[in-house]
Amino acid sequence: MRVFAAMVLALIAAFAAPAGAQASEITAVRFGEHASHTRIVIETRAPVRARAHTLSEPAARLVVSFEDAAWSVDGLPDRAGIGAGLVGVFRFDGAASHPRLVFTLTGPASISQQMNLDPAGGGYRTVIDIEPVSASAFASVSGFPQSAATLTELVVREAGVDFTPQACERIRVVIDPGHGGRDPGALARFGGMHEAGIALAAGLQLRDILNETGRYEVIMTRDRDVYVSLEDRVRIARQARADLFISLHADSAGDNTGPRGATVYSMNARAESRARSRAFSEGDWVDVSRPEEVSRILVEMSLSNKRSQSELFAESLRTEIGRAGPLWRSTPMEANYAVLTDAETPAVLFEMGFMTNREDARRLNDVRERRRLMQSAAAAIESHFSGCRAPGRTYWAGGPATASASAR
Ligand SMILES: [Zn+2]
Repeated sequence: MRVFAAMVLALIAAFAAPAGAQASEITAVRFGEHASHTRIVIETRAPVRARAHTLSEPAARLVVSFEDAAWSVDGLPDRAGIGAGLVGVFRFDGAASHPRLVFTLTGPASISQQMNLDPAGGGYRTVIDIEPVSASAFASVSGFPQSAATLTELVVREAGVDFTPQACERIRVVIDPGHGGRDPGALARFGGMHEAGIALAAGLQLRDILNETGRYEVIMTRDRDVYVSLEDRVRIARQARADLFISLHADSAGDNTGPRGATVYSMNARAESRARSRAFSEGDWVDVSRPEEVSRILVEMSLSNKRSQSELFAESLRTEIGRAGPLWRSTPMEANYAVLTDAETPAVLFEMGFMTNREDARRLNDVRERRRLMQSAAAAIESHFSGCRAPGRTYWAGGPATASASAR
């Protein structure tokens, strides 16, 4: 049921293989400095299809991608040169499947016009005019992350991808009992078990409840009292290509025995930004055969899907848990937890109650009470994936559906 992943792969495939690609040599890059704008002229031996856009991060740049192009500029064997006006330097990157010229801008600028001109003494010309704009205007029209949707739509339209979702198959749920081994988590204050023991016992109960339905493939990050690093927990979710990741914990309020009840967290903005860096640093989303911007689009689409799915599931979980017992926080809660930082897997961290509260600790240590709590969690999972229950129906919600609608 990797609907989203399948769509992403289709998108990559379609983008990477443009029909009727025709190589053309770039023979000159020239600049014209005018009072109101800077003109960039790219000369080619044959007509060429080029697409230009600006990027604001990590530095202000203008990127011109070609369907296919080679470098053949006399006097610039290093494939780089110095610009004029709003362009500081430029370089040609021919390694990507879509070769591109990257112009470093000296300040915020936007594209005011782009034209293709037939030869007049020289070669075919792609002319791009850029003009200075305010920093905020630049941010609003530039690539990522601000206007991912616009470029996404462009890529989707050009790729001509069919977004018909696949039929529901087996749903993969990763259960992550927190702590373990040398890390006991919050220590037992009332009742017998430390947090690690309670999380494991609850996780195994949830696994058994889900397995009984026959609808899920359950993957445990640990099923005994061992230490598993936070990195490894995320990696397990990633490798399983899980549809849902649920981390089980029990809270602590230090010396304060008052706070009680459950809390459900999804990733906050900082966790999302860690997920974004992880996506690139671990190489999962980096593919040198496609333009960097496409990778960025795909990561943003994935994060947007993950965010909406995580929030939807957190809402189901709060609803079900709230029926079974007290909630410490009944409103959406977000946090920067490491286990929530895979760029793709919808993930929540479920604090089942407080180790530091006598009544919570009693319930969490009681096998029947704990099973009741896990039945509520299972009900939330069932409700979240309810679209998958009827044969032939598909489960589809979140970010990519928007791209799908706009692609038609
Ligand atoms: Zn914990």
